[in-house]
Amino acid sequence: MDWIIFLFFLCWGSFLNVVGYRVIHNKSILGRSVCPRCSRKIAWYDLIPVISWILLQGACRYCKKRITILYPFIELLTAFLALLTYHYMPSQYWLAYGLFFSALIVTIRTDFETMLISRYATWCMIPCAFLLAAAGKLPLTLLSSLTGAVFGYLILWTIARVFYAVRKIEGLGEGDLDLLAMIGSFTGIMGAWTSLFVGSFLGSIVGITILFITKKKSTQIPFGPWLAAGALCYVFLQNHILSFF
Ligand SMILES: [Zn+2]
Repeated sequence: MDWIIFLFFLCWGSFLNVVGYRVIHNKSILGRSVCPRCSRKIAWYDLIPVISWILLQGACRYCKKRITILYPFIELLTAFLALLTYHYMPSQYWLAYGLFFSALIVTIRTDFETMLISRYATWCMIPCAFLLAAAGKLPLTLLSSLTGAVFGYLILWTIARVFYAVRKIEGLGEGDLDLLAMIGSFTGIMGAWTSLFVGSFLGSIVGITILFITKKKSTQIPFGPWLAAGALCYVFLQNHILSFF
């Protein structure tokens, strides 16, 4: 069963790659994939998750334009999360977490690639979380879902305002606020709080490492993927985190 889940969700990850790429570049979700440089249609045998990227050595078959490593990374991440969900989550929450993780994965893809987060992956998901919480398909009440969304937005909004007042530059993008609101709607206040805490920690380590390696004075790194990583940590470890507090 594990292999079937793994293979199916590699393909789902491949679809999420397409969604992430096309929503952020304002392209239609429908239609065949083409190379962004030479516009040649990509053949089916070059669209096999992970394997095609390895066989093509990460470049277009025709014009040799580099294909980002995000493609196999997103596919493997999706399959890995699906296996974790299958083994460690009660089946009544699979639908909700499937939606939530898909939105996080699309966000990871777009934010790494373009430093942008699509509102399709954040705003559109928040009402879904409210409905799923109300229907008992998430391990939190509708009220917790609502307060989680508001808290997630407001805490980052406050941090952004304080940062701007002190440094006079925008440190956070609007998309980060939307993302933490979406995370809060699926995980409640504790989830939003943990995501922010873990996300800031991971983001700082990566930022400092990049500064150290490149020897620059400042750098811009996307915050969304680290918030998403924090949210994933919370979902899978929430029982341990809640008992710790
Ligand atoms: Zn090409």
